[in-house]
Amino acid sequence: MKINKFGSSRAIDFACDELKCYLERIDNSLNIEIVSEKCNDGCLNVGICDCFENLLPKVEDKSIDDAIYIDVKGKSGTITATNPHSVLIAVYRYLKELGVTFIRPGKENEVLPVLKLEETSVYVKEAASYRHREVCIEGACSYEHVCDMIDWIPKVGMNGYFTQFVRPDGFFKVWYEHEGNDYLEKEYKTGEDYAKILTDLEEEIQKRDLLYSVVGHSWQAECIGLDGSYWHKVDEPTDPEVIECLAEVNGERKLFGGVPVNTNLCYSNPKVQHKMTDFMIDLAKKKPFTKYLVFWLADAVGNECSCEECRKGSFVDYYIQMINMLDEKLTKENMDTKIVPIVMWKYLPDKEKIKKPDRCSMMYAPIHRDFSEKYPSLIDEEYLKGAITKIDDPENTDLNIVLKPTENNVGLLKTWQEIFGGDYLFYDYQMIWFHYMDPSYMFCSEVIYEDMKNLHVMGINGLSSCQGQRVFLPTVLPMATMAQTLWNKDTDYEAFKVKTLTDEYGEDGVKVGELLEKIAIPEMTRMMSGPDALDWEKTKGEETINLIKSRYPFIDELEELINENLKKDFPDAIKLSWNYLKFYPQIARYYMDVWTSAFGEADLEKTRKIAVEMVEYVMKNEKDIHKVFDGCLFRRRIYNFFNTHRLPGIVLGLDDTEEEFNDKSNNT
Ligand SMILES: [Zn+2]
Repeated sequence: MKINKFGSSRAIDFACDELKCYLERIDNSLNIEIVSEKCNDGCLNVGICDCFENLLPKVEDKSIDDAIYIDVKGKSGTITATNPHSVLIAVYRYLKELGVTFIRPGKENEVLPVLKLEETSVYVKEAASYRHREVCIEGACSYEHVCDMIDWIPKVGMNGYFTQFVRPDGFFKVWYEHEGNDYLEKEYKTGEDYAKILTDLEEEIQKRDLLYSVVGHSWQAECIGLDGSYWHKVDEPTDPEVIECLAEVNGERKLFGGVPVNTNLCYSNPKVQHKMTDFMIDLAKKKPFTKYLVFWLADAVGNECSCEECRKGSFVDYYIQMINMLDEKLTKENMDTKIVPIVMWKYLPDKEKIKKPDRCSMMYAPIHRDFSEKYPSLIDEEYLKGAITKIDDPENTDLNIVLKPTENNVGLLKTWQEIFGGDYLFYDYQMIWFHYMDPSYMFCSEVIYEDMKNLHVMGINGLSSCQGQRVFLPTVLPMATMAQTLWNKDTDYEAFKVKTLTDEYGEDGVKVGELLEKIAIPEMTRMMSGPDALDWEKTKGEETINLIKSRYPFIDELEELINENLKKDFPDAIKLSWNYLKFYPQIARYYMDVWTSAFGEADLEKTRKIAVEMVEYVMKNEKDIHKVFDGCLFRRRIYNFFNTHRLPGIVLGLDDTEEEFNDKSNNT
């Protein structure tokens, strides 16, 4: 059999190699040769060619909008797509249609059918519902964790990766040094080691032609030579040239809380504007495979420069000046790299305008949203009645309250869409926050489905998912749903759920899903994420206690089901699913315990004790579950939710470690 390759690109080469490798394993009678011949009769033609162009659905921009066409009967036919990475997406889609399952990231999590290729036939003609379908690095990561995720992205129809920071060392450091976990052996690496990890991962990204987004955080720190590799403190700079670039806050030019990543610069200063944009151009030149320069300023609040010069204009105007300056410099360098600015909720521009909208994809990050509320399927006057359209008092506003109701986010977004009419994407936090507020993952999956389905209603063309890389226990469903619904917003969720759970757990997968659904308590998610988040005085009492108590029997039932299935014979990947799931019932019980003591009894001491125990359980077992569960993120979230004071009027003396830890968890 011949795979006839069309087009020259690393991703198309890789797609053909992958196709050959999987097909020869599926049908062991095959011996496949990869060729590049003009004549295409009797071959399996794979790649991009003018002659296939009419077969594809129309898209706006072929280089970034994905559409695929698959028409293969037996050993011949055509697999084509709009660009190299979508050729790879198409090849994996063909394999999925043949029955291959890519259950979770990691090659050990795949199940291949055995069949005679001659007897098969596949036809698919689809365009992705959304342009941006990207995973962003967060949590604690080993090289392998991220590499597996990059490999999985085109397998589930996503198309981009975002590494964050000029040097994303921090994410790797917390894994290799196992922050908060003494059961694992710490591995100390140098800056060079972390640089090598990044280079190796970028190699994997290039191999697949994924749309690569970089940096976001830390431009402003790194461009003046400060260490912006994580949200950590460093010594105050002493060089006057550096100090004069820093934002003046409360009359002083110094680091904000000692943390470079949280420190803004004096953006009205033309020297600062040039330093920022020159640095960005340099990085884009060093990494020509970069598609998107994500352009954020410092995290944290109250850190804007208030020097005499800066006070003459608006913060957002200086930001837009830098965006336009960067655009001009990119144009001068003949580079088509895109800029991804972020909507600054607090301020609106006074007079500046983004000059070339085509250069930019605007990001909106609804970080304060209430995750128990889905995005709207219809936005009309009724929906927007009472929604805010701007922040009235930027100085005195608790955004966490103001931006809780989803309609307020939509109202603000609408205002910005009038200011900037170009391409928009969300930077959202479902898989870094939400799944820790719904240990069943089922309520979370359902909301994610509606969220993705409804992005277009808000004029949003996709998602950069700020997320842990290991978010698959008790099930891959939330992440799989996100990927699938970004590809096809009209996906039938119920059918997809059954298919995903069955692929993951075999014939009892549906039962796993039903039991997880019974374990879910959306009311608790609302208590953790809603406007009264974690106000235990409001929730305590018999009603809450009984609501939680009713879930324990379902956890027992799930445990029995797991024990039965652990004895059965399955393909290795499914066996692995059950082996991971056996750690879940205890985690779920701890959730019920901690919810009871916190929301039901408002007992802080008891709550802290249980929180410590549940984290301890995960730390002890992390060696067995780390590929599907991020213990570090879990620990931060649980302590953030339950181990600090949440009772009005009670303030605990936190020791330094905890204080530092809380700083960090607030940031991510
Ligand atoms: Zn200033």
